[in-house]
Amino acid sequence: MGRVAVALAVGVAVVACAVAGVAVGRRVRSKKKWNRVVGVLRELEEACETPVGRLKQVVDAMAVEMHAGLASEGGSKLKMLLTFVDQLPTGSEIGTYYALDLGGTNFRVLRVQLGGRRSSILSQDVELQPVPQHLMTNSSEDLLDFISSTLKEFVEKEQNDSETSIRTRELGFTFSFPVKQLSIRSGILIKWTKGFAIEDMVGREVVECLEAALNKKGLNMRVAVLVNDTVGTLALGHYHDCDTVAAVIIGTGTNACYLERADAIIKCQGLLTTSGCMVVNMEWGNFWSSHLPRTSYDIDLDVESPNPNDQGFEKMISGMYLGDIVRRVILRMAQESDIFGPVSSRLSTPFILQTPLMSAMHEDDSPDLNEVARILTETLELPEVSLKVRKLVVRVCDVVTRRAARLAAAGIVGILKKIGRDGSGGIAGTRSRSDIKMKRTVVAIEGGLYTSYTVFREYLHEALNEILGEEVAQHVSLKVTEDGSGIGAALLAATYSS
Ligand code: ADP
Ligand code: MG
Repeated sequence: MGRVAVALAVGVAVVACAVAGVAVGRRVRSKKKWNRVVGVLRELEEACETPVGRLKQVVDAMAVEMHAGLASEGGSKLKMLLTFVDQLPTGSEIGTYYALDLGGTNFRVLRVQLGGRRSSILSQDVELQPVPQHLMTNSSEDLLDFISSTLKEFVEKEQNDSETSIRTRELGFTFSFPVKQLSIRSGILIKWTKGFAIEDMVGREVVECLEAALNKKGLNMRVAVLVNDTVGTLALGHYHDCDTVAAVIIGTGTNACYLERADAIIKCQGLLTTSGCMVVNMEWGNFWSSHLPRTSYDIDLDVESPNPNDQGFEKMISGMYLGDIVRRVILRMAQESDIFGPVSSRLSTPFILQTPLMSAMHEDDSPDLNEVARILTETLELPEVSLKVRKLVVRVCDVVTRRAARLAAAGIVGILKKIGRDGSGGIAGTRSRSDIKMKRTVVAIEGGLYTSYTVFREYLHEALNEILGEEVAQHVSLKVTEDGSGIGAALLAATYSS
């Protein structure tokens, strides 16, 4: 072999070694990066853990906070607002009643015709209008004008039925913002939430404002009840099934109400009720306990929100936030490694990944997770990622949703515990489970997160069974009450009509 040939052979060997070395180095580096990403996932999983023992601590904390909120004004982060609803519809209501439902993204006008036998809603008409964005922040006059015009058109469309045109129409008003209730049909707006901000209405009596606007339009209508969406849902639940004792909303936000003994409402001793009971609006979105499994993502989300330190429970559970928690985890993963390519500006944009997109990724059952890939590229503008990375994203959705659903379940059991329906013999828990005869207990439930996100719903049911134990869980059922927030207000208008 000539010298040139030897040199060439050595050169080739050196290059080959170097190439192999680079490949090995790259593999090692990419393995390291992957490990960092898996580390982020493991940390998330750990921080979101909700073993049944921890859930039971949340149950106890909820029951304790409920007590504190009932004992004194400001006694707890749970406001435990009185609703003055001391009777719920029974099914015997007769006649035609109306309702207005304001408080989410849509405004609804409804009419129900009641036949007088249980569950005989003879007919119901609903008209839905998205609330125009500018009306959410203009003057109260503009918003009330929009409401009364929509109602007027709705009423004018009805057939000239002599019964309804002669008599004053009775109206239920579902107004799902924090209100300090003064009576069954009056209350003062404490503050706006959910993107509404009409300053000239804060501190004013809501029904007075509405009735003035209705009068201006020449509408012969009387507001018989002022309620929020949870109370409407409880009313519809009770109309269909008188074992319904509580209602929970899990949609954009989350809240609950339940039927309490009037003598347990210590802050209002001597409160007069016809039934000895009253529905209490918990405003449970603001519940907080050190037992809640909190992550750095929750802390960042809260700090950056317009209402820091507020609505802590809601920020871990409801549809407004779950997608954004997932986005924050993906962002952290992208910062730790380049498995998602360079950090896109979309990925850094709060609330760009909405919860329905998160659930679409979570429930993607295609073998290649095509829906996950599509949402990552279209919504977050990430490059096409491998199947392994897509699976990782699904796992993140799973962890965030599972925690949310299990905490919501713990909240529900907290209510049951407060009213002695969790099979434990009340808050003191002195009696043994076998001594207790469980009453059939129904919780009405509504909201897009619960009704449209199957995995969420399944995790919630699973946790409910785990916490209560199978024997007790048999006596507790969750019943979806569609459109309860509006129909329930019309039913209450019937119950309370003059
Ligand atoms: P609102 O709470 O505004 O009165 P809904 O009860 O209809 O309205 O809930 C709507 C919320 O439910 C949405 O903001 C969204 O967070 C959630 N949601 C709706 N559809 C889905 C879905 N398919 N998957 C997950 N969440 C959903
Ligand atoms: Mg709603």
